Amino acid sequence: MSSTTAPATAMVSRAVQRRVEAGSSVMCARCDQQVKFAARQNRQQVIANVYADGRWTRVEHFHAECYDEAGAPYGKAAEQDIRSRRPSS
Ligand SMILES: [Zn+2]
Repeated sequence: MSSTTAPATAMVSRAVQRRVEAGSSVMCARCDQQVKFAARQNRQQVIANVYADGRWTRVEHFHAECYDEAGAPYGKAAEQDIRSRRPSS
């Protein structure tokens, strides 16, 4: 019996949180509304890389709040852009 060791970077679905960029025109996978850039609002989106059977399948976009409401289906979103983090809320 040989045991298979999982690679350090497992091919599993994961999510990151990013600032919404100007010109963004993606649709939120939960509420079907556009994830819009809004000047001065510094809105956050969640981008999920979805894997099935160890293979990359698709990218899904969410409003950050929608992702939370959905119960973080692809795990807690990792923050990528530290500088855009709001001091408090
Ligand atoms: Zn949404």
